Amino acid sequence: MRTGRVTLVGAGPGAVDLITVRGQQALREADVIVYDDLANPELLDLSPAAARRIYVGKRAGRHCMAQVAIGQIMVAEAAAGFHVVRLKGGDPLVFGRGGEELQVLAEAGIPCEIVPGVTAASAAGASAGISLTQRGSASAVIFVTGHECGGKPAGEGVDWIALARTRATLCIYMGTRRIGVIAAELQKGGLPGNTPVAVIANATMPEETIDIGELASVEPLAAFAAGQPALIIVGEVVRLREIAAAAQANLGIVS
Ligand code: SAH
Repeated sequence: MRTGRVTLVGAGPGAVDLITVRGQQALREADVIVYDDLANPELLDLSPAAARRIYVGKRAGRHCMAQVAIGQIMVAEAAAGFHVVRLKGGDPLVFGRGGEELQVLAEAGIPCEIVPGVTAASAAGASAGISLTQRGSASAVIFVTGHECGGKPAGEGVDWIALARTRATLCIYMGTRRIGVIAAELQKGGLPGNTPVAVIANATMPEETIDIGELASVEPLAAFAAGQPALIIVGEVVRLREIAAAAQANLGIVS
């Protein structure tokens, strides 16, 4: 029997044409697709009609522990000789538990290839016209989660006060629910209340929304996006977008 394998594929942020060519190729060669709550289920149509599709997302009751079961499915299918595509939103190695899955596969001796994807921060920046780095004002960009898996001992969570001091552009994933607490911590760390913030929900999808506000009053903006996949960008680079937009508007008036 041929040896099975797993390809960990980044599906990108949502728009069906934002998966890589290599990712599409992997889907075309899939026997089994293991997927969760993808922004765009249309991607599954790229795989052969005969490919089996195994849903392991939230509706399947997935939580922190169910990760073990996902690993078991992939190992069993690959060990049976199938090419398993593990399709994950965005990039598989950015808040996607890709690392944990790789570990399980490595321990089981299953060959695995990784295909990167466009992560939500890149997609949200592109959609909103926000450069995540900017010479002179943002020399660093930090991808950080606003929602950590339960069970972390106190003091081991994200140190928002320390992050505030970096003055880096912060790209906060999964942050809409806790943004009030996060914004307060960032201000404690020294970020001014008028630091500009963008909340970009459903980036690259038809239902995309972009809201711009300030750190001190970000909660209602984020509440608007609650329940949607949303990326929160905090930093001076957001203000540069406003300047660019104003310049464009001025151009419109002049012409
Ligand atoms: N691996 C993914 C992230 C998974 S965590 C990646 O690289 O993008 C899920 C979080 O990603 C969501 O809660 C949201 O914060 C963000 N996200 C994913 N898709 C998004 C989209 N289209 N628009 C805005 N944020 C998105």
